[in-house]
Formats: sequence, structure tokens, C-alpha cells
Amino acid sequence: MRRVRREGTEPELVVRRLLHRMGYRFRLHAKELPGCPDVVLRPRRAAIFVHGCFWHGHQCRWERPVKSNAAYWAAKIERNQKRDAASIQALRESGWRTLVVWECELKAPEAVQAELRVFLGPPGRPSP
Ligand SMILES: [Zn+2]
Repeated sequence: MRRVRREGTEPELVVRRLLHRMGYRFRLHAKELPGCPDVVLRPRRAAIFVHGCFWHGHQCRWERPVKSNAAYWAAKIERNQKRDAASIQALRESGWRTLVVWECELKAPEAVQAELRVFLGPPGRPSP
């Protein structure tokens, strides 16, 4: 199985599968929204980002320090973090609720599932 780099990365697929199984309807990669959220549930005004721990600078044990070009990667990750924060702020300011699911959290999918359920409310079609 091949890995696709930009979209449909593995952690994102796990989240999509969870949501689907839980009965939610959603859209992917909302390019018109700040930060292009990975998953969007428009009637709920809910945007979900699935972040890789390394690229988005998560402070967790998954984060592996790089040996070569450390300054380069640090700057790149810092840029990502700033962009993430700006996107989330812009979304909130226009009335969206946001949730970030970290790659490392998906080691316990039941916990992520519970988190999604709380964030999104009961599945099924909310009245428009
Ligand atoms: Zn992490």
C-alpha cells in the first residue's frame, strides 16, 4: 500500500473511518476555510484538524528530534505552529468550533472517538 503524502495521510484516514462508523456526514479538505481543515461538518459549524506530531510540533513522546539540519526543521515546524494557531483563531472568529486530533492520540482510538462524540454531539442529521 502506498502512502499519499499531502492528503489522505494515515492518521487522517483513521479519523475519517471513526467518524463514518459513528454515523457522521462530513466533508474533506475545506479549501475555502482558513487552514483548510481536514474534516468539516458544516451544519454543526465544526472543523477538525488531524495533525502529525512532528510537522505540527506536538510535545509528545512521538516527537523525534532530528539530527541533521535541526535549525531548518525547527524553523519549519515553528512556521507550521504559527499558521495552525492563526487558522484556528480565524475559524473561531467566524463562528466555527475547532478540534485538533493529534497523531499520537490515535494510538487510543476509543478515546478519540469519545472526544469526537463530545465535540460533535449526537450523530444524525441536525435540522438545518
Ligand atoms: Zn503527539
